[in-house]
Amino acid sequence: MSDAVLYVVATPIGNLADITHRAVEVLQSVALIAAEDTRHSGRLMAQFSIKTPMISVHDHNERQRVTTIINKLSEGENIALISDAGTPLISDPGFILVRAVREAGFKVVPIPGCSALITALSAAGMPSNSFIFEGFLPAKSLARRQQVEVIADETRTVIFYESTHRIVASLKDMMTVLGADRYVVIARELTKTFETIHGAPLGDLIEWIEQDHNQQKGEFVVLVSGAPEKEDTGFSSETLRTLDILLQELPMKQASALTAKLTGEKKNALYQVALERKG
Ligand code: SAM
Repeated sequence: MSDAVLYVVATPIGNLADITHRAVEVLQSVALIAAEDTRHSGRLMAQFSIKTPMISVHDHNERQRVTTIINKLSEGENIALISDAGTPLISDPGFILVRAVREAGFKVVPIPGCSALITALSAAGMPSNSFIFEGFLPAKSLARRQQVEVIADETRTVIFYESTHRIVASLKDMMTVLGADRYVVIARELTKTFETIHGAPLGDLIEWIEQDHNQQKGEFVVLVSGAPEKEDTGFSSETLRTLDILLQELPMKQASALTAKLTGEKKNALYQVALERKG
């Protein structure tokens, strides 16, 4: 067994000056760079005079590439993994490769740097001690709303990635589920020329972004403030979630009765909770 290393190297999310000295050193010194898109990464390589050969490792060939890369490591060649932007594996390819390389007994060394979610969180002014990252929401509206329902009662800050094509539709689906008052920050084009970090209740945020087409362009991190802590009702979060979903569609009596049937809880007690939740 050779002691070759797979380096997992973070690259900038826009501003090339954000690359670390260590990342450049590693990319210059390894035998091979496994890049998500070799053409895309060509610009970075040219900027820092990195002449190391590259192979592509993306969502559609990652499994096949595992064998090639493990063979090269076995021959004693160090390899670096990069993605198009930010930290590999964070909503990017690399998980299958990293797991296989570790299982094969080789060392995997992270070279830390940018990630859009941490960059956004550091400047959004949202609670940041504890948060959850959900990656991209589904492309279709129904699935997207269902996914947002899952985090509707989450009390921690929830972070999503979003693209220019879906930002408005996603914010609208969030408003359908979370209401117009939920405070949301969007962090657009971080580290780039048109960097914008803007926060408002969802209703106002949607109005703002719809009025200015330029604000819909580019790459987005969406940070949703956590739901307020609910007082202890004595019911499990699953029961309360069922009740909340049914309350969106049905009168309180029916919603409570149906939740009681589904969960085996008492109808009257659920009705009291429904009254409180409807304010
Ligand atoms: N691996 C990357 C990371 O560590 O952040 C994320 C890759 S993911 C395929 C691309 C998404 O990340 C974009 O659609 C956007 O949601 C977010 N993103 C990447 N760069 C960004 C930037 N400069 N500003 C805002 N969001 C960005």
